[in-house]
Amino acid sequence: MFARAVISTIFLVAAQVIHTFALRSVQDVLLYSGTRDGVESCAILARQLPKQVFFPSDEGYMQRQTQYWSGQQAELFSACRVMATRAEDVKPALEILSTRNQTFAVVAGGHSSVIGASSAGDESIVLDLSFLNNVVVEPDGESVWIGPGARWGDVYALLEMKGLAVPGARVAHVGVGGFVLGGGISWFANLFGWACDSVDGFEVVTPGLEILEVNALRHEDLFWALKGSLGAFGVVTRVRLPTVRCKEVLAGAIEYPDEAVEDLLDAFDALSEEDGTGQSYLSFSWTGVTKRMSNIAYLVDMDTESTSPAFERLTKIPNIHNGLQKQTLKTSADEISAENPLGHRRSKFTLTVNSDQPLRWIYQKFVDFIKTLGFAPDDLLRFTFQPLTLSHLQAQKNFFPLIPGSAPFYIISVEMWWIDSDKDDYFEVQMKNLAEELENWLRARSELHDFVYPNYAAKWQDPFHGVEKKNRIALERAKRRYDPGNMWRRLVPGMWHV
Ligand SMILES: Cc1cc2nc3c(=O)[nH]c(=O)nc-3n(C[C@H](O)[C@H](O)[C@H](O)COP(=O)(O)OP(=O)(O)OC[C@H]3O[C@@H](n4cnc5c(N)ncnc54)[C@H](O)[C@@H]3O)c2cc1C
Repeated sequence: MFARAVISTIFLVAAQVIHTFALRSVQDVLLYSGTRDGVESCAILARQLPKQVFFPSDEGYMQRQTQYWSGQQAELFSACRVMATRAEDVKPALEILSTRNQTFAVVAGGHSSVIGASSAGDESIVLDLSFLNNVVVEPDGESVWIGPGARWGDVYALLEMKGLAVPGARVAHVGVGGFVLGGGISWFANLFGWACDSVDGFEVVTPGLEILEVNALRHEDLFWALKGSLGAFGVVTRVRLPTVRCKEVLAGAIEYPDEAVEDLLDAFDALSEEDGTGQSYLSFSWTGVTKRMSNIAYLVDMDTESTSPAFERLTKIPNIHNGLQKQTLKTSADEISAENPLGHRRSKFTLTVNSDQPLRWIYQKFVDFIKTLGFAPDDLLRFTFQPLTLSHLQAQKNFFPLIPGSAPFYIISVEMWWIDSDKDDYFEVQMKNLAEELENWLRARSELHDFVYPNYAAKWQDPFHGVEKKNRIALERAKRRYDPGNMWRRLVPGMWHV
């Protein structure tokens, strides 16, 4: 893991050095970085927002470039980055981009695995929200406004000084913007549903160039449409979440031997049915170095004295290592972050299944699939099972096509990591073939759910596909109202559109 992190850091530092020395002057920028259109748009943006526009020759630009989760996103160099610090920067930037018909991408934490979702090539511009990272607790402590560029680890660190928490990502370096707008599975999901369901206010700059405060009473159509849209309705410049009292949780990873997988899956099903304060995901990873499956259950219970029978079942299965302990959400999120270094090349897709029935078959399918892959030492395949419980789905206030009555459902996420860019096509094809095979098998047994979780979807999957007709109509109506010029579809190619 350390070796991989070192190699990816070397790659990004080398890219930074090349760009820093190659691009010394505006002349160089014009000659080297970007098409004429992209560079001209940047020049106009720089006149309007002189302190906010960074070029590839600027250190600040390259610092941001190294923060992408996916190596393929990190190697796309846009003509410039507009580093917004408030909604009032975003609005004139959008106005210029719209007038010039200039394509662009929006980035918050940069953790999308979809190439071009939050980065862009040299003909385009990146609207970067990472300086929009304020965390402001309301005086009564009941809620908090968070900038989309904040990282969850920083949010937790700040809130835990006040004995508070919010439903956020389970990994520290994930960004607030994409996580919340794409749904958001947190350790609080059994209590409050998706993170987006908890949001009680957004500030958003619409493609129609308005800065709006939206909530259940004002622009409620947009308030609803934003939840799960992954940015398809405008640039969100802050979100408001109610806080919960939370000092510590019981959290940690338990690693199991292969012989325990059957028992592990049984205990996991029981926990998913139980709907309590305890939650778990199962993750199975194979690397070219270890050449064995690492079978992990990461468990978290909000009740630090948990006596949940299903939780106990998981802890009683003979294991290789049990890291379960009382800790803060921040330390737990840091722990998982350490297992998820930045910068590898990635391919990721997701499926949702109707019940726990196919999980054993899927596990076996991955074991077989691994044998067919050519693994270099730094390559990794990981698949993760996550339950969507009854109480999670009952708390929904969004357009996702998930009817609580049939819960629990299970989200499967599959990711491949590698270093060597020559393998891009190989792994992409393998992953697509695998997805197709799994889908066909599950569909034939009525086990494939229509839901595609936006935050885990591959570029070739469409999270809006399964949305019910009446919700789709309402989304389209909101789209016409807040994006009358169809700006997003015209100019933001990396996103899914309604
Ligand atoms: C290591 C890792 C751990 C993860 N853990 C979890 C987890 O615990 N739970 C979970 O549900 N998901 C998890 N995810 C998935 C993650 O939530 C998504 O990848 C999410 O979209 C990342 O958000 P971001 O802001 O970091 O990414 P970005 O790549 O910056 O953004 C993702 C998309 O959202 C758009 N966007 C972001 N912010 C805005 C905004 N303010 N306005 C308009 N559009 C915006 C971007 O344009 C882009 O298309 C994880 C991903 C990784 C890589």
